[in-house]
Amino acid sequence: MKVKAMVLVKPGCLELREYELRHPTGEELLIKTLVTSVCSTDIKVFHGKIGAAGYPVIMGHEFVGEVVEIGPGAAKRYNVAVGDRVTPEPYIPCGHCHWCRTDHHYHNCPSVSTYGISLSCVHPPYLLGGYSEYVYLIPGTLLHKLDPGTPDLAGSLSSVVGNGVRWVKTLGQMSFGQKLVISGAGSQGLCALAAAKEAGVGPIVMLGLSSDQARFELAREIGVDSIVEVDRKDPLQFVPIALGAAPDVVIETSGAPAAIQTAIKLVRRSGRVVSIGLTGGKETPITFDDLVWKDITLVCGKGQAGNVGDAMRLINSRKYPFDKINNFNYRLTDLEKALNDTEHPPKGFIKAAVVFDK
Ligand SMILES: [Zn+2]
Ligand SMILES: [Zn+2]
Repeated sequence: MKVKAMVLVKPGCLELREYELRHPTGEELLIKTLVTSVCSTDIKVFHGKIGAAGYPVIMGHEFVGEVVEIGPGAAKRYNVAVGDRVTPEPYIPCGHCHWCRTDHHYHNCPSVSTYGISLSCVHPPYLLGGYSEYVYLIPGTLLHKLDPGTPDLAGSLSSVVGNGVRWVKTLGQMSFGQKLVISGAGSQGLCALAAAKEAGVGPIVMLGLSSDQARFELAREIGVDSIVEVDRKDPLQFVPIALGAAPDVVIETSGAPAAIQTAIKLVRRSGRVVSIGLTGGKETPITFDDLVWKDITLVCGKGQAGNVGDAMRLINSRKYPFDKINNFNYRLTDLEKALNDTEHPPKGFIKAAVVFDK
């Protein structure tokens, strides 16, 4: 059987190609893709800005699929059956090195590979990214199952919700009753908000722009206590009013240099700033004396390693409307438009997802 995939032949050049399906071998699983969420990392791969990208590549590392065939060695490796809906973690670590034997740092594994980024479609089994009608899950994959009632759109965000859990729990070390500011109202900020609510953190203020109204509406549904539109109101003035004090933790997701500086000014003495946004290579001037005098812990880091299990429990609990995050849906052949909308968001846009025919 021939199946379709969108191949990024080289930066900027997408092509619809057909591949012949074969049976999975060894510990491989074959899944039929249901939903693939578009990540801002895809934009960087599209423009040739990720060193680890292996062109030509079928992008897409945030996906859900239905298991259609299980390789002869895979049955004992994964507790899954044909018909189950599953989502793999993007990172495929070696499982043996020093980093892989830690709980939360296997993304540092020197031989880690990544679906839709480093795994090129030059060699068999070719289909190793989510913008393909079928994907082979290869040995070493960390796999998570969706409960029967969990929406496909929500399941496709397993690594993004995993990031939210990481910023709140692993990097933020937050607990019940702590005051939090989340800077940035994108999918990272919204997932951090859900993780924080689940941890009993509160009150919570979200910072965003006046153009973020659709994101704010969802943030209110998830349970944010206050919102400050930073292009209309000064957060240094309004956040302490909203919280009744300075925040214990600020999670900065936007990467904007001004927002990182604001986070350091906002946080309480001996507080914690978790800064995980990317500036796109811009320098952020920071007066380190401010960190020292205020006794601030500044934490940075990459996403989700070791946090996707918690994320899946949260997604499968269906307590939070994660499926409303990827609110702009596209067909596979409209991938270029989905990427373009991600880079230049139209009104009301939160996050894009490619939805496949069932
Ligand atoms: Zn991603
Ligand atoms: Zn390793």
